Amino acid sequence: MNGNLSAERQTFVTHLECSLTGEHYAADTLHGLSRAGRPLLVRYDLEAAGKALDRDALTRRETDLWRWRELLPVRQTSNIVSLGEIETPLVPIPASGGAEVLVKDEGRLPTGSFKARGLVMAVTMARELGVRRIAMPTNGNAGAALAAYASRCGIETVVFCPDDTPEINVREIAAQGARVYRVNGLIDECGALVARGAAEGLWFDFSTLKEPYRIEGKKTMGLELAAQFDWRLPDAIFYPTGGGTGLIGMWKAFDELEQLGWIGPERPKMFAVQASGCAPIVKAFEDGVEHAERWEDAHTVAAGIRVPKAVGDFLILRAVRESGGRALAVDDAAILSAVNVCARRDGLLLCPEGGATLAAYRDALAAGLVSASDRAVLFNCATGLKYPMPEANAALDKNAAIDLAAL
Ligand SMILES: *Cc1c(COP(=O)(O)O)cnc(C)c1O
Repeated sequence: MNGNLSAERQTFVTHLECSLTGEHYAADTLHGLSRAGRPLLVRYDLEAAGKALDRDALTRRETDLWRWRELLPVRQTSNIVSLGEIETPLVPIPASGGAEVLVKDEGRLPTGSFKARGLVMAVTMARELGVRRIAMPTNGNAGAALAAYASRCGIETVVFCPDDTPEINVREIAAQGARVYRVNGLIDECGALVARGAAEGLWFDFSTLKEPYRIEGKKTMGLELAAQFDWRLPDAIFYPTGGGTGLIGMWKAFDELEQLGWIGPERPKMFAVQASGCAPIVKAFEDGVEHAERWEDAHTVAAGIRVPKAVGDFLILRAVRESGGRALAVDDAAILSAVNVCARRDGLLLCPEGGATLAAYRDALAAGLVSASDRAVLFNCATGLKYPMPEANAALDKNAAIDLAAL
């Protein structure tokens, strides 16, 4: 790594802060939720960070996630548990999306999803703070990223997933060294098991937003976008929202960049995209309330956003409202059709959650919430290769006569 930080001063963290009450907590000690039961946010001395680093110096660095290290919580770079967290590309999809539509393709990250961003940070911090055993509820991708990073640095993991989690996710979690259990319940019910074990002192609880550092990892999506757009943010961001870590993280990133003086006060409209079979944030948005109720009988093909209850609900809703965006729901048929159209016309295989953002973009365009000249970014959060694809059964008998011209 290059850069201009001394060995002792690897970061500019000052303290942690309760996202609801603003109460302060000491950095460098292990924390879960705040005393108010809400997520903790990491705060930095941005003035000092701004003196140590400028935008131009940063653009000369390698483009990976650790490029942003002064704005991240890790004290000792030797603790970083890396699997190669590259900057993800912005891929145009002119045929299925439009001339100004770019897909941020997060499927290129380690373990094939953007959960790697959050988990590389959270596991690195757990290692720095001496954690030996971690448990997590997951719909698949988070568990896979946790397993990979934790195994790599010798931390034990126990993972609980709903029993209808995609088979490939359950297997990749096991293959990467976690003990994984299928539970006859949804992700929040898996989370209740994790909480019980944590209360008994069996492990550290790594549920979404229940430790402070996954947001910091996901924040790098916002930092990266700013750099990729030459420090002028896009007009609209469509984010498939489960626990909302990425949306909350990007919103935080934009604030920090403005405090650094690297971007102005303009913000993209943030669109929180959910599946109509599990849309608690959309309902809360439409009802004009700050907290979402649990969504009963949640179901959707987009497993990554099947989250009936999110502890960061109010943070998602605040960001969406402050940005002038919306929370939008799309149904499974629209999701699958968007995946299909994007693959056939633009050659980019989205995950179902990524398909949801394309479907929502098209709805937003039709409803006049965005215009065709707005620069829009859609998040494809995982590689489409992890998900079931339509059958392809055409076969040829090499010993029979084949009319090649008819193929
Ligand atoms: C986890 C996940 C999401 C939702 O991300 P959050 O930041 O938790 O809202 C969306 N898509 C995929 C593929 C995921 O794995």
